[in-house]
Amino acid sequence: MTKPKIILLYTGGTIGMMKDPTTGSLKAFEFDLLLERIPELQLIHCEIEAISLPKPLDSSNMNPKIWASIVEIIENNYDTCDGFVILHGSDTMSYTASALSFLLEGLTKPVILTGSQLPIGDLRTDAKENLITTIEIASLQQNGLPLIQEVGLYFEYKLYRGNRTTKISAEHFQAFASPNYPELVTSGVHLTISEEFLFKPNLRSKLVFHKEMDTNVAIIKLFPGISRDFLDCITNTKTLRGIVLETFGSGNASTDDWFIDWLKLTIEKGIIVVNVTQCAGGSVKMGQYETSTKLKKVGVISGHDITTEAAITKLMYLLGQKVSLKVFKTIYETSLRGEMA
Ligand code: ASP
Repeated sequence: MTKPKIILLYTGGTIGMMKDPTTGSLKAFEFDLLLERIPELQLIHCEIEAISLPKPLDSSNMNPKIWASIVEIIENNYDTCDGFVILHGSDTMSYTASALSFLLEGLTKPVILTGSQLPIGDLRTDAKENLITTIEIASLQQNGLPLIQEVGLYFEYKLYRGNRTTKISAEHFQAFASPNYPELVTSGVHLTISEEFLFKPNLRSKLVFHKEMDTNVAIIKLFPGISRDFLDCITNTKTLRGIVLETFGSGNASTDDWFIDWLKLTIEKGIIVVNVTQCAGGSVKMGQYETSTKLKKVGVISGHDITTEAAITKLMYLLGQKVSLKVFKTIYETSLRGEMA
């Protein structure tokens, strides 16, 4: 049986960092050393080709230009390999997983992100399990085809759909959750695969490697006492094209005239407004309460049960695709990569 070929791409993050002896802070080190530290990788039934971004980074410095270069690396290696494992800092991993899910249209191979809370050289590190199991999952095949055909995120014994995740802890090894979608694979004594939840690509959809994202967007989290002045400051930004509005509960907001008036004016200016909930789980249901009925009336888009990370990257992606205002709402409210119900 030929071994599946996996590209292991190091973008940065704690997994490949070590302490600078003079300052005591964590810095990325040479990727070659990372592989030397895990000889167990040779035991997995796959061929691994390791590559690194030219300048590995703490994921707080991640941006859409680097997403485009990750897409390019995947594009250049797509035909000659069976899957991709991306080592990434956990801080913005859910944003990158969401962004890649939109940028990689028609994906039929696994692209799985992982990282760790402790560096690989640490005695109590979580890096080895995360890395080894992610590579094992990326190598899984069924009838000669990769089992996972979507962008996933593996952390602490669980593979999630990447665009359903959010970082929930800066302390615990279980750093991620997928509040509105079940795990795809659970790692125990055996790997338990929930086949019914895996993304089934539309066989007619063409493979497209998108690279464009429009960053003229904002996230606004509502709070009791938010002022018109503050909101106007944001919408007076000339280049602004879209807002993800984090509302209360099932998509509710103030019914005050000034607020509805601000929303109306914003949408009339051609700025897209997407409604997502501030709650950790659950869905926006505009019209369920009086406090969301007006939002629906003025043309706010429903993000349903999407995460903020997926909402903002979907907005950047669709704006980058120059989707016209006429059909924007319909396309946004449609699940493109399993990111919403
Ligand atoms: N600050 C680090 C990063 O996101 C944390 C981590 O690697 O988990 O790059």
